Formats: sequence, C-alpha cells, structure tokens
Amino acid sequence: METVFGPVPSRRLGRSLGVNNIPPKHCSYSCIYCQLGRTQWLEARRRSFYEWTTIVEAVKNKAAKVGLDNIDYITFVPDGEPTLDINLGKEIRGIKGELKAKVAVITNGSLLWMDDVREDLLDADWVSVKIDAVTPNIYKKMDRPHPSLDLSKVLHGILEFANTYSGTLVTETMLVDGVNDFADEISLIAEFIGKINPAKAYISVPTRPPAEPWVAPPSEKNILVAYNLFTEYIGDKVELLIGFEGGEFNIDSENPIESILGIISVHPIRIDVLEKLLEEKKLDPRDIMERLKASSDAVIITYRGKEFLVRRLTR
Ligand code: SF4
Repeated sequence: METVFGPVPSRRLGRSLGVNNIPPKHCSYSCIYCQLGRTQWLEARRRSFYEWTTIVEAVKNKAAKVGLDNIDYITFVPDGEPTLDINLGKEIRGIKGELKAKVAVITNGSLLWMDDVREDLLDADWVSVKIDAVTPNIYKKMDRPHPSLDLSKVLHGILEFANTYSGTLVTETMLVDGVNDFADEISLIAEFIGKINPAKAYISVPTRPPAEPWVAPPSEKNILVAYNLFTEYIGDKVELLIGFEGGEFNIDSENPIESILGIISVHPIRIDVLEKLLEEKKLDPRDIMERLKASSDAVIITYRGKEFLVRRLTR
C-alpha cells in the first residue's frame, strides 16, 4: 500500500495528493456501494495505525518529488475511515506546519459526535462529510454502520461540527437504486443538509464496481427528482457527481453539444432555460435539441410539468 499517492486530478479539489492513513480496510461503515469491497474490520473506536511522523515524512517526501506547485490539496482519502486514526490531528497540523499546504479530509462523518474528532478536523481546510440517509433503517441498509453507532448521535455530531468549522465544508450523498432514492427520504436528507449550509452539496451515484453486486445507480428520473428537491432546501450549491467531467455553466458556440453535456453532468437544465441560452448565443435551439435527442448521452425527463435535459447514465 502506498501511503501517499498522486497527485490525481479531482473535480472538487483540483490536483490532489492522496494520503492513506488507514490500512485496508478499517471502517466504521461497510457501505453497500463501497469501491473497496466489504469492510474487513468494522470499527468505531479511534486508535493508532501508523506513527504520525511517518505519515508527515511520507507526504513531505512525495511533495518534494512532485513539487508543491503541482498540488492544490493534500487529501486524506484512505482505504477506510480517516477519523479512526487517533493521530489524524497531529498529521494534519504536521503537514500544514511543514509544507504550508491546504489539507482536505473525506470522512463518512460517523465519529463527529466525538469531541476529539471534531477538534482534529477543525485544522483541515476542506472537509467532505457523507450523508446518505437520515432514517435509521435506510442508514443501516446503505452504510451498514458499526452496531455501536447511533444515527441521531451521528447527525447531531455533524451539525455540531458544521456550527464551529470555519473551513470549506461540503456534503456528499450517494444515491442507490431502490435503497435511498425515494422522494420522501431525499427530502429529509436535503432538509438536514440545508441546516448544515455546506459550500456544496454533492449528489453522487455508484460509478465503480460496488461492494454488493446488486447495487445500481438510480434512474435518471430519480436523479433529477433528487437534484430538484436538494435545490429546494440548499439552493444553487447542489452539484451532481455522476461519473462525467462537468464544464462551466457556459455554452461554447463552437462546440455546443459537448459543452451542454458538460453542464448537465453537473446540473440538469430546464429545456426552456437551455433554449433561451442557445438563442442568446445565436444558435438554433431546434437543431441543437434534435442533435441532443439523437445522441445517447442525454435524456429529456418531465418533472412537475417542466422538461429537463439530464445526462444519461451508462448502465
Ligand atoms: S465509509 Fe467510505 S470507505 Fe467506509 S465503507 Fe463507506 S464508502 Fe467505503
């Protein structure tokens, strides 16, 4: 296992140098969609996995090799849950002290009810927290948490962290067909995320081989419903992470089809809004719509009486 890897390009973080502070696979969850397979060590108590100085040294060496100018974030994104590592705070502070670099942590948030976990993460510049469900039976089905974890305590911990954290906080919600992609649950998740007021609320779908073979992405219709319900509570900070690179919210007249596909990879767009944008660009909406309909990359879906253009998922 490489302790430090990359930098890898990331839509959310730019050029991200990954830090693996947890050996595979120790996690407090065993999510049905996890790309690392089922969790071998389901744990909910913090402990030491490596000497914290070894992690800081490894980051320092790798950063020296690739050049700090080629790194936007040093990101804790391990083969498990990074906050299980009791030395995480020391590692974050050590890296920031040595390198003056920005540090990101991608956590499932399940241990944020612990004071020391919240304290450790306060030193990170960017934190992503997972919120897949707010109803206990759906939470158990999706994330298969360690039996000692209590959902209301977990959610309360996330809220408490959000109230004190001054860095960039984002949320990520994975949607799985038939498990948490129902409007009722999505509304409740969106309402909860609205209280956190994150910089971005990402909706993602499984795009890599999942831990359980029956796991599938939701239909495009359900993704659209989720996107719209999220925007009702969270506003324009909602973005899709559905396995395609997104573009600027801008139509390139030279390359309209490609730029529209880039936009809808991140934000489904209402057809009437799109047509207006095309007219402003002196492009023929009819011709573009015909070409989009003929392509296998986009699909038109009606929601609450309005037509939307949605990125088609390859299933
Ligand atoms: S929290 Fe992350 S690492 Fe842990 S099981 Fe879920 S997806 Fe995998």
